[in-house]
Amino acid sequence: LESQLRHAQKMEALGTLAGGIAHDFNNILAAIIGFTELAVEGHQEGQVNPADLKQVLRSAERARELVRQILAFSRQTEAELRPMDLNKQLGQTVELLKCTLPKMISVETILSGDAPLVLANNNQIEQLLLNLANNARDAMPEGGRLIFETESAMLDDEFCQHHVGLEPGAYVLLKVSDTGHGMDAKTLSRMYDPFFSTKEVGRGTGLGMSTVYGIVKGHRGHISCYSEPGRGTIFRVYLPVSPAGQEGASGELPTQINGPG
Ligand code: ADP
Repeated sequence: LESQLRHAQKMEALGTLAGGIAHDFNNILAAIIGFTELAVEGHQEGQVNPADLKQVLRSAERARELVRQILAFSRQTEAELRPMDLNKQLGQTVELLKCTLPKMISVETILSGDAPLVLANNNQIEQLLLNLANNARDAMPEGGRLIFETESAMLDDEFCQHHVGLEPGAYVLLKVSDTGHGMDAKTLSRMYDPFFSTKEVGRGTGLGMSTVYGIVKGHRGHISCYSEPGRGTIFRVYLPVSPAGQEGASGELPTQINGPG
């Protein structure tokens, strides 16, 4: 019953998604067409304005980001989990972020030297990191610091009793902090809802944190958030350590997490 319910919710979400996204997409296409026309006219008059081409590029980049978010949202549940070095994945994503985030945002890492392998899907972890980073970026329009930390952690019986489906044991903690504008209580309570967004129309899909939440649950992990308006936000993501002995290679069958359908 629960999985049927989740399926129905997902179908409803996809319906809303199609409507909202089609609208956003149309706006992006309108911009691409408009600025391309300007560039073509400019070309005929012997002078293309580079600013028009930059607008085309910016719009195309927004379309690409929108598609990434939709794909990450719809692929939340079909993941193969394998033993994975979180620090390594984080290193790769941080390199990417250093190129793509505005220069006023400093991206920093504090990596645990001895973090064990986690049982995870590297694509999903990348999507999770990108979604958290995008929100941190949007919360720091004047710049600031985005800090990724990893450390070994234990979750005990008492903690897990309060969180359905969470097993006591060894985890790796990923901490993502920003010095942005933070969230008020109302935003905090709705943040993980699909389509909830405080951003202006066309800027936010409201899918990012819902995807992050789904990915963490699919990994049998845990996420918590601490935020102070005007000061910043800290996300803590706990991912279960891979069972001892599995070192990733050598023909081990991956653990399969099945979707709700
Ligand atoms: P979107 O980014 O498209 O608005 P998300 O689901 O990713 O959708 O986020 C939902 C909302 O949560 C955002 O609109 C924002 O208000 C809030 N939020 C998420 N992360 C942060 C953050 N690091 N700092 C401030 N607000 C945040």
